[in-house]
Amino acid sequence: QAKKAGRNNFRVFSADMAHLLTERLEQENGLREALENEEFELFYQPQLLIDTGELIGLEALIRWRRPGQGLVMPSVFIPVLEETGLIDAVGEWVLRAACRQHAAWREQGLNPPRIAVNVSGRQFLQAGFSGVVSRILEEQRMPSASLQLEITETVLTRDTVHCIDILRNLRELGLEIALDDFGTGYSSLSYLKRFPIDVIKLDRSFVSECHLKEEDAAICAAIISLGRTLGLKILAEGVEEQAQLDFLRREGCLAYQGFLFSPPRPARETTELLNARARENAPSFEVIEGSELTL
Ligand code: C2E
Ligand code: MG
Ligand code: MG
Ligand code: MG
Repeated sequence: QAKKAGRNNFRVFSADMAHLLTERLEQENGLREALENEEFELFYQPQLLIDTGELIGLEALIRWRRPGQGLVMPSVFIPVLEETGLIDAVGEWVLRAACRQHAAWREQGLNPPRIAVNVSGRQFLQAGFSGVVSRILEEQRMPSASLQLEITETVLTRDTVHCIDILRNLRELGLEIALDDFGTGYSSLSYLKRFPIDVIKLDRSFVSECHLKEEDAAICAAIISLGRTLGLKILAEGVEEQAQLDFLRREGCLAYQGFLFSPPRPARETTELLNARARENAPSFEVIEGSELTL
């Protein structure tokens, strides 16, 4: 009896496994085709100075416009890309697409701010990653200071010495490094001193209730103050309410991004935002091109 049940269980289990495997393979093939058929797309979320509202950056966030299925979010497919190794190719696509978009905005005279690109752990640790970045910068004529790479702190806990090496190489190219989702991993604070980074991104999980809960307020305040002491820029993620922004301003946080100002938007809408900003900042008198006006 028991033996029979066991065999049945096994059969159920293996049918389940087969199903999962099929689903997984379909997903993997779908992702491979997505890259070939250019179904990936970048959205952009504005980053602003808290004091002045100046637009200082745009974070590029990948979306998969899957035929017949609408927009698929990265939390669904980034893990699959990581496990299958497809992340190297897709990550390279993201970098190139972000740099190409930045070039297009420059050519339109829109004076685009820095673009922040997320880099996954596996991609960051792949052999020759800084070489890939440097090649794309050159190929797209991207001013390196206009690129920021975001990595999560958990990546840095693996092979510290090697990571410091990669970070140094990247920063020698002239770009900035941001530590994403800060505070969620094993943030050994001594890391901050050892790693050559420029920006700390204070994770949304602390920001979301920083105006309501004393513990979260204390964590935000401590991270902001520590970052300032170490000469790092602090950007708060996921700011949705004015009260959160007011709190962050009081604590001396430099910059923020979040639904309060704007969710991530497609390139076309981001172009409109840049256009509006360019008009705002335009001189209030008409500059007549080719006029012989001399002062
Ligand atoms: P992340 O880098 O921490 O990105 C911030 C996420 O928070 C984004 O989700 C963004 O849409 C969301 N967000 C921004 N403001 C708010 C807010 O005020 N409230 C709330 N509730 N959410 C907000 P998204 O676009 O779904 O991306 C999720 C994660 O996927 C990213 O987290 C990043 O880790 C990863 N990811 C996205 N694009 C890429 C990519 O091109 N490459 C890699 N390797 N990872 C990516
Ligand atoms: Mg990010
Ligand atoms: Mg983040
Ligand atoms: Mg996050």
